Amino acid sequence: MSRVYNFSAGPSMLPLEVLEKAASEMTDYNGTGQSVMEMSHRSKAFKPIMEKTEALVRELMNVPENYKVLFLQGGASLQFAMVPLNLKKNGKAAYVNTGVWAEKAIKEAGKWMEVDVIASSKDSNYRMIPDVGTISGDYDYAHITLNNTIMGTKWAKIPETGSIPLVADISSCVLSEPLDVSKFGILYAGAQKNLAPAGVTLVIIREDLITDTPVENTPAMLRYDTHVKEGSMYNTPPCYTIYVMGLVLEWIQKNGGAEGMAKRNTEKASMLYDYLDASPYYAATAENGSRSLMNIPFVTKETDPEKADVINKKFVAEAEKAGLVNLAGHRLVGGMRASIYNAMPLEGVKALIAFMEKFAKENA
Ligand code: PMP
Repeated sequence: MSRVYNFSAGPSMLPLEVLEKAASEMTDYNGTGQSVMEMSHRSKAFKPIMEKTEALVRELMNVPENYKVLFLQGGASLQFAMVPLNLKKNGKAAYVNTGVWAEKAIKEAGKWMEVDVIASSKDSNYRMIPDVGTISGDYDYAHITLNNTIMGTKWAKIPETGSIPLVADISSCVLSEPLDVSKFGILYAGAQKNLAPAGVTLVIIREDLITDTPVENTPAMLRYDTHVKEGSMYNTPPCYTIYVMGLVLEWIQKNGGAEGMAKRNTEKASMLYDYLDASPYYAATAENGSRSLMNIPFVTKETDPEKADVINKKFVAEAEKAGLVNLAGHRLVGGMRASIYNAMPLEGVKALIAFMEKFAKENA
């Protein structure tokens, strides 16, 4: 059986090497006679897996000493609530609305905070990242979504926030290129795009933000200090997912770390954007200067919505037959979307472009 090129926005492709290694260790990890799936999280065999995974996060993301690395559950969506619950002091937060996930974060924060949406790209259908300049004010924190998975936009420059802690959702761009962790108070990412299968959320938090006075009656599981005190083992962590994350991080390390990923991802994304920009048949939807390296939504130039819908469906169905799967755009954007995370090889992008060219010729 041959493998397809999977352009899903997440869960998404994992490096084949990682899957093969996990398969080879499936029934007997490292001579223990057990699968990692079967191990106690407090066992002698599992502890080094956890330690190695954290050490690799620290090394590859260049995490400063004064930050904690946590492996939590509940996805990035739970961070939409944990951030306000734990960072609330005066009760006001600044958010930038750059798309669907940012909107969800804003809505959740609004349950506990007075939320100032200081900038929004909603009027442009979220095709670009608004210019916010320097963020200032009496905010407990400021929040951005660094890469917008659905709209395919990315912050090209991290905003300055002075002493206001900057919190960023990096779910769909974590380790896709170097990132200066020291500019942030909290970074969080659901793992199921660039790091691992679904089930674990990576949180990197500056120590001064770990409070023992969160919002009153915050459940223990939703307090960062709970997880910091227990080394992400307050309850049973998603052991197997953390193990696969360790394997993925080793693969990233072997392939040049964050710089290596940036080189690889820039080459893939540039190839696809260059093709789209030159095409008489297709167009990229995100504006130049705000374009994501990871998620590339595109449409055909058909202007009649009904005809466009028929063409899009045909594109997705024929692509699937050609072994290029999950190319349907998000229902809110329409068209198509190619998510080309770290594990997508250059050959996958080349195969997509070759298919697009053929499809355009046959359907123009
Ligand atoms: N934020 C972003 C930017 C995302 O892309 C997603 C998932 N696609 C989420 C948050 C939600 O993540 P989860 O499913 O891990 O809660």
